[in-house]
Amino acid sequence: MAKPLSREPDLKGFLREIHRVETSLRLWQAKGHIEHLEQRLVALSQQDSLTGLPNQTRFIDRLNQAILQSQRHDHKVGVLVLDLDRFKRVNERVGHSGGDEVLQQVARRLESSVRQGDTLACMGGGRFMVLLPELKEDLSATTVGKKLLDVFHAPLKAGERGLQLDASIGICVHPQDGMDASTLLSHAESAMYRAKERGGNRLECFTTTLNELSLERQELEHCLREAMQNNELQMYYQPQFHMDGRLAGAEALLRWNHPLLGFVPPTKFIPLAEENRLILPIGEWALREACNQMAKWQALTTTQLLLAVNVSALQFASGDWDACVARALKESGLEPSSLELELTESIVMRQGHEDVRPLHRLREIGTRIAIDDFGTGYSSLGYLQRLPITTIKLDQSFISALQVEEPEISSEHIVRAVIQLAHSLKLTVIAEGVETEGQRDMLELLGCDGLQGFLLGRPLPPDAFEALLESMVAKAFLTSSRVRR
Ligand code: C2E
Ligand code: MG
Ligand code: MG
Repeated sequence: MAKPLSREPDLKGFLREIHRVETSLRLWQAKGHIEHLEQRLVALSQQDSLTGLPNQTRFIDRLNQAILQSQRHDHKVGVLVLDLDRFKRVNERVGHSGGDEVLQQVARRLESSVRQGDTLACMGGGRFMVLLPELKEDLSATTVGKKLLDVFHAPLKAGERGLQLDASIGICVHPQDGMDASTLLSHAESAMYRAKERGGNRLECFTTTLNELSLERQELEHCLREAMQNNELQMYYQPQFHMDGRLAGAEALLRWNHPLLGFVPPTKFIPLAEENRLILPIGEWALREACNQMAKWQALTTTQLLLAVNVSALQFASGDWDACVARALKESGLEPSSLELELTESIVMRQGHEDVRPLHRLREIGTRIAIDDFGTGYSSLGYLQRLPITTIKLDQSFISALQVEEPEISSEHIVRAVIQLAHSLKLTVIAEGVETEGQRDMLELLGCDGLQGFLLGRPLPPDAFEALLESMVAKAFLTSSRVRR
């Protein structure tokens, strides 16, 4: 379109120009305030709002500066990650406002135990970090770590309630443990997790092995999450025998066959599954799978077979685990008296009185309860009378030491005493890890009731166990059943 020839002023354009000048004038006058506001916003974005301490952004900034300085002046830099142990439970007990109060107290205590040039930062969720920008020697970082742990000696307060808290600390040092901020933080974090794994309330220094371990752990955890969906888990069955050689039943043992890693031993993946709670679905699957399998095998013989299934600490702690067992029994049709649940001494001893009620309920319906790895946990044996236990599984360590000459009290004495004690309490004793004829003869002499071990049979996949069972029926070691599969 052609331009209008009229010389009338462009009023709209004029108004726009006035507005532009006005705005820039106002901005000009207000510049001081704006700068102040900006500074305030920057400060807030680098501060933890609850404790007023620097947050992660500020911490990383200072860590980067410290790394640069250390390279110029040839000193070291220490990084500590402190995480409150079981802080989630504090929040559950005293509510979020109580938890906030606790965090503020912890922040003040930690602040008073670091030096002025050091940076204490708060990450939220019960985690703090400390930067030691001018470290003379590695040991000084450990000394600071110990001082930080000491601040938890006195109880903290949430309202009127006193709380005893602990913390786990991971330490690493630049340059040897990492050249940049993110590596140093992740290494200090791995060390902190190691401190937690070892029970908490302690500090750990980063090592390269720790790095390999933590990488491996992460990968393994990822694979384990997929293992269930991909049907990589399988149950194996290790035969258990009476002393006269008859098959008594089997212990169901989990196997994980990963397509690339191969067989991952249960001693490696079960603790991991416990940490990330995957053991709950895995344990439930294992129980149902084993019950279904044993119900089918039971149909091959009229001799009652026993199925032993391991129960993890987490399953035991979840209040309704007896309901889960009852469901597996009902669905499979397996007799409750054909199932023996194996718990370790430490699992049983860790629980408060009310938590053992599922154990009593299960015993009432006829399920058997065994103490696995007996002799490796606590020395107090009072629970044998207090709890509805039916079986003791003597740990392999006693069995392998049976024929070793010992100067003072020998394994033979211990095994004899345990068998006598168990029998006086009307408990059955099974020996685990029997590997030699000599051990078997000795156990027979000492009055043991049952045997399990490589001498008699390794854990077998289902088809191999079925073949063993059929051969036992064929040899009339077990009575044949007329019920067909
Ligand atoms: P456990 O319950 O004490 O199982 C016995 C372990 O000893 C098994 O190891 C078995 O293969 C091994 N063993 C048996 N006889 C002998 C022997 O004569 N010599 C030697 N050296 N070892 C023998 P496995 O299968 O590696 O299982 C290790 C542990 O993993 C089990 O110890 C149990 O605590 C846990 N586990 C296995 N399956 C399950 C499961 O389904 N659930 C839970 N929660 N834990 C399981
Ligand atoms: Mg066991
Ligand atoms: Mg055992």
